[in-house]
Amino acid sequence: MRRVEEMTVRIPDYGPGLHAGPLTVTTITVKTRCPVCGGPRGKPTPTLRGAYGRTHEIDVWTNACGHVDLNSDVLIEAGVHPPYKDRI
Ligand SMILES: [Zn+2]
Repeated sequence: MRRVEEMTVRIPDYGPGLHAGPLTVTTITVKTRCPVCGGPRGKPTPTLRGAYGRTHEIDVWTNACGHVDLNSDVLIEAGVHPPYKDRI
C-alpha cells in the first residue's frame, strides 16, 4: 500500500545526547508536510556525506515554505529520539 502522505528518508543520527555520538544513518518515515506550516516538504534527494573516512548515503530536502527540518527534529518526529523536554 502506498501512502503518499509519508516519505521514507535516511537521516544522519548522532544520537540523542547533548554531545554528538558516532554517526549512524537511521531510516525513518515522516509526513510529507512541514510540521510548522503544513506546507509540502521538498522531495528527498540522495546525498553522500563523509565522516571519519567513511561515506554515508543520506537524503536531504529543501522545503518550499522556507522552514528548515533539522535532523534532530525529524528524528524526534519519527519517534527515534525522545523529545528535548524528556532528556536529562
Ligand atoms: Zn513550513
